[in-house]
Amino acid sequence: MDRTGTDALPAMVKTKIVATVGPACGEVSQLSGLVQAGVDVFRLNLAHGKYEWLEAVVAGIRQVEQSLGRPIGILGDLSGPKIRLGILPPNGLLLNMGDRVEFARSADAANPRVLVCTYANLIDDLRESDRVILADGIVVLRVLEKISDERVVCAVEQPGLIRSRQGVNLPGVKLSTPSLTEKDRADLAWALGQDADFIGLSFVRHSDDIHELRSVIAQAAPRHVPQIVAKIEKPEAINDLEGIIDATDAVMVARGDLGVEADITRVPVLQKRIIALCNERRVPVITATQMLDSMQHSEFPTRAEASDVANAVLDGTDAVMLSAETAVGDHPQHTVNMMSRIAEAAEPLVRSRSALEPPELSENWTPPISDDHRITLGMTTGASITADQLDADLIFVATRSGRAAMAMSALRGQVPIIALTDRVDTARRMCLYWGITPVVTEAIDRSPEQLLKFAVEWGVKNQLLKSGDRLVMIGSSGWSKQSHGHDLIIVHTLP
Ligand code: PEP
Repeated sequence: MDRTGTDALPAMVKTKIVATVGPACGEVSQLSGLVQAGVDVFRLNLAHGKYEWLEAVVAGIRQVEQSLGRPIGILGDLSGPKIRLGILPPNGLLLNMGDRVEFARSADAANPRVLVCTYANLIDDLRESDRVILADGIVVLRVLEKISDERVVCAVEQPGLIRSRQGVNLPGVKLSTPSLTEKDRADLAWALGQDADFIGLSFVRHSDDIHELRSVIAQAAPRHVPQIVAKIEKPEAINDLEGIIDATDAVMVARGDLGVEADITRVPVLQKRIIALCNERRVPVITATQMLDSMQHSEFPTRAEASDVANAVLDGTDAVMLSAETAVGDHPQHTVNMMSRIAEAAEPLVRSRSALEPPELSENWTPPISDDHRITLGMTTGASITADQLDADLIFVATRSGRAAMAMSALRGQVPIIALTDRVDTARRMCLYWGITPVVTEAIDRSPEQLLKFAVEWGVKNQLLKSGDRLVMIGSSGWSKQSHGHDLIIVHTLP
């Protein structure tokens, strides 16, 4: 990576964009176009795509990163125990209101109305009056009775057409499946080998699922330890939200499955609750699914979709995500550009937390905070208030782990923040933090004067600073033997 390159001006849009890669955008030129339109993190949906193709995509993303001189995150999204229907007749199967259908352990060649699915324990786990939801919520069945150890009879409560391999959701049913399937373990090993920056865990039920993934990652001892993104899409996860947020590194509001597993009418309220808790705990959060769905085929979003993106930003999301829009849509680059513009228009209305609600510095914070971290939190609050009050043009923060940048990001100040780090993995991880532009440089080890010189030169070179502009910088003086963290705020006006 060109460490201080100017080829691509760092976008000053504060909201981060996660784009799912698919056949519509997998070529290097297409990936490059998406980054220039505003993508910060690419999501590889491991439910689809062969490793060979995905490896070419990873190589392409790293090539774009190098040529644009801009860190890019890669999210390897594990599909989790997603249950799918078996094979149905080519034109699908129409289920009418009140029809009776059976689920069986194995397919019945003579009767296509006997359904099978990929979850081996379905017949054991279903109980009378459980709901079985098919095809992303289009069809709803209700279990009437278990007629043998092999078969369960259901009544159609909500009619519709179902097709082969469509999703099966069992809201409220206690599944006896591990959160990491055999396929997930193989996909995880592949993603670790590709140095993925984030691993998405689907259908998280409780914090133990996160602990398990973290221990599997630790056992694999990868050269690059990824951040875990907990996908909240099951009602059980809502019941252990605090535990999950404390255990994970980032969260995704996975509205697709959430809208099926929980009542769809509750999705907006749950989104707000999840985002608010993530903001409070300073955990980055992605809002996902159908944000600009109509742009798969249309050049313009609906008014409701534009409002949805803006409202997610106002809720406090760090990132917004595109799925089919970029993976298989007709206008991936145009859609990213539109999303970026809608987010940017909403950002001035985002309420800064620094002046109104200084972050709590509780001893009981989970996970516990070290003394250095307490100092960093205090310093970042002070710098953010100072920058807002002085109407500064840029904030620079030196950070090795990215924690100081996360603390600054959570304050939702209006001044753009440049996070300087000497670690490429930290820079890629910060691609998910609202308001943070990561820059890789060895300069963070220099004296405060030298670091300030670097910041000024970098800002001028990238046309973000000019004579008379003002910057605020948070660094380390090196004066205090006790403190290894941030203990210095500099305000500098360019001559
Ligand atoms: C979702 O359900 O909203 C989601 C993002 O998960 P996936 O696309 O993996 O089903």
